[in-house]
Amino acid sequence: MSDLLSWLKATIEGDKAAAEAATPGPWTVDDPSEFESGLEIEAPDATVAGHGHYCGGVWKQADADHMCRHDPQDTIARCDAELFILSCHEGPHECVSPDDNCLWIECEDDCPTLKALARGRRHRSGFNPAWLES
Ligand SMILES: [Zn+2]
Repeated sequence: MSDLLSWLKATIEGDKAAAEAATPGPWTVDDPSEFESGLEIEAPDATVAGHGHYCGGVWKQADADHMCRHDPQDTIARCDAELFILSCHEGPHECVSPDDNCLWIECEDDCPTLKALARGRRHRSGFNPAWLES
């Protein structure tokens, strides 16, 4: 298994584990009442974040919307999909390049699909930009 593949697999599994430990979704944004400021994020059985900064909550609508779009159930589903993609692209296999050429990938080579998945996590700790070269 290449360094890129093992890092990517561990990163995705870590994201999934963090999502599984979080308050189950779906998360929604609750508009503030006239006496409260900021936004609240609610889950079916719990409040995830209170109103505004003073209650440890969310202030900006865009931040609250972003959190809800990446709530645990979506993250778990996305991680499962990515782990399935990894399983289809590890080891020797035929793969397609961005210019539609069919490539034979050897066991320790990283295919275009793995590089694309890694590019999506390029700001994470442990990412090596050299993985995307060549
Ligand atoms: Zn591939």
